[in-house]
Amino acid sequence: MQKTFDIVIIGGGTTGLFATYYATMRGLDVLLIESQQRLGGKVMQFFPEKLIYDVGGLPEILGEQLVKQMEEQARRHQPPVVVGQFVTNIDQQEDGFTLTTSTKEKYQAKKVLLATGAGTFHAKRPEEWDALSPQSFKETVPTTLDDLVSYTDKHVVITGNSKVNVSWALYVSKVASEVTIINNQQTFQHITEEEQEALQNAQVNIYKNTKIKDFLIENDTLTGMIIKETSNHVEQTIKADCLITYNGISLQETPFTQWGIVMEKGRINVNACMETNVSGIFAAGDIVQYPGKTMLIATGYTDAMTAINHAHMQINPKAKEQVYSTVIYQTRK
Ligand SMILES: Cc1cc2nc3c(=O)[nH]c(=O)nc-3n(C[C@H](O)[C@H](O)[C@H](O)COP(=O)(O)OP(=O)(O)OC[C@H]3O[C@@H](n4cnc5c(N)ncnc54)[C@H](O)[C@@H]3O)c2cc1C
Repeated sequence: MQKTFDIVIIGGGTTGLFATYYATMRGLDVLLIESQQRLGGKVMQFFPEKLIYDVGGLPEILGEQLVKQMEEQARRHQPPVVVGQFVTNIDQQEDGFTLTTSTKEKYQAKKVLLATGAGTFHAKRPEEWDALSPQSFKETVPTTLDDLVSYTDKHVVITGNSKVNVSWALYVSKVASEVTIINNQQTFQHITEEEQEALQNAQVNIYKNTKIKDFLIENDTLTGMIIKETSNHVEQTIKADCLITYNGISLQETPFTQWGIVMEKGRINVNACMETNVSGIFAAGDIVQYPGKTMLIATGYTDAMTAINHAHMQINPKAKEQVYSTVIYQTRK
């Protein structure tokens, strides 16, 4: 018979990561499911390279570093973590829930925590790449930044025409041996004068009105590319060890209403215990709405604690609503 988890947490953004840690700290049997291949939600998708200043105890921290530390914390008690599976169905059973994912896996849960944000953001690939090959290579081109250290001493090429591409180029230029932006337009959208100046100071190469004509790949490894200026058709070959693209995003919405969850203006109303209208399904983080709610990382943490504590009390009526971590780890030793 399949195992029943005390709680399945859907969404591995900052809220889901903290909820995973907190629930395992309280001794619950937890499964975390994330639809993307990597954890970190919006922080990793939109601002891994930006400094965050409003998380308690961390005067300033890079987005990617915060997620790294949160992942380490979430894995402290070795909960199973599933990535690359989008939860498509939640079916209520007599004594819990059956969750089904995009890969047709099924998981049993006594309680569910929705830490999904509005859904999953998928990066769009440049349309002009449709004509390029090989397909297998195109599918592996990252659409968000990896660890900064992975770009050390590399020739990094970034394609796109937005402020995001500029921000990434400036970040990566701290460690890369060379950074090149290939912009298929004449300008970058919404770029400030300060960013323009920073690009010049960081000696980022910029090709405008330019597209990739061909990838140069040897032994499955990118070595360079042929680029082409769109107005004069002049071609040249440039060296490249890493390619990253940002071409906008589209949102795959989480099917809350299909799961019986009542939404209002795109957000889930919860009670003071962070429980939704469906008994046993809790929600936390950016997706919830209540008076005074703010859509901030730290608010997601407190939402998660409240939800987990109340789910815990439903599972075990003798459980205390709140136990200090100082006490929990003292008695575990
Ligand atoms: C540009 C920008 C800057 C910001 N700056 C700050 C800041 O300085 N300080 C601050 O506190 N906050 C900031 N925020 C807000 C902060 O990013 C959010 O409050 C926080 O990331 C919300 O986390 P979350 O885990 O609730 O949601 P998300 O980060 O959206 O994570 C939800 C996760 O759930 C997954 N998911 C969704 N549906 C499913 C499904 N059906 N199955 C499986 N997985 C699913 C998604 O793929 C995603 O990984 C900023 C936001 C943006 C966009």
